[in-house]
Amino acid sequence: MSDALASLIGALATGGVRIVDLTQPLEESTPVIDLPPPFAASPGVSIEQISRYDDGGPAWYWNVLRFGEHTGTHFDAPVHWVTGKDLPDNTTDTIPVERFVGPACVIDVREQVAADPDFLLTIDALDAWEQKHGVIPARSWVLLCTGWSERDGREAFLNIGEDGPHSPGFHVDTVRRLAGDRDVLGVGVETVGTDAGQAGGFDPPFPTHTLMQGSGKFGLASLCNLDQLPPTGALVVAAPLKVVGGSGSPLRVLALAPA
Ligand code: MN
Repeated sequence: MSDALASLIGALATGGVRIVDLTQPLEESTPVIDLPPPFAASPGVSIEQISRYDDGGPAWYWNVLRFGEHTGTHFDAPVHWVTGKDLPDNTTDTIPVERFVGPACVIDVREQVAADPDFLLTIDALDAWEQKHGVIPARSWVLLCTGWSERDGREAFLNIGEDGPHSPGFHVDTVRRLAGDRDVLGVGVETVGTDAGQAGGFDPPFPTHTLMQGSGKFGLASLCNLDQLPPTGALVVAAPLKVVGGSGSPLRVLALAPA
């Protein structure tokens, strides 16, 4: 066995490494992104029992699950956006599995978001983070810690006003650098999607999806517990279901973090 793996196993046994669950519960009340007509909507979550130690199955319990691929804590594959539709290995079943594991860079903007729900992470803010914690390494996850996962209930979580949803995200220039020079695996957020609430009106519209998926990068939405991670030094495992041709899927996202 490699020394690296042996020391990891040792650290897991002695509590030197913690496993942090970055996943929201998946249940019928899980809020799903609300698209205005004429766009087709994703259904919510439904969980229908097949049997539970009854006539339908005296010794077993199981359910049928129904939900859209982009529901709850979920993964965005490159094929999800039109800009990524012709890239190689762009679906959940063809992405090389090495790309599901990578170091986490956690950018804590909870204070700014508390003051402004439309907060966008600018290039200047990214520069300031890198000056303090080092340049974001290639093939890492960039996780935006906004505190948004603490919002209770659909209304507060989606935060939709008369002029559309209001929630934080990335400035287009920041996404361009992360997908380009920094060559990250993807970005992760606590909100319902990787783009800011008002991003439909940005240039280009929905820049995070447009540029990330268009560069073969991934998205992770509706994460939680990002406040339990250090700015650097954690390792994230985020592997979607191997749905053939899939554009994404709900998943369990785990981080290995220093104790
Ligand atoms: Mn999505």
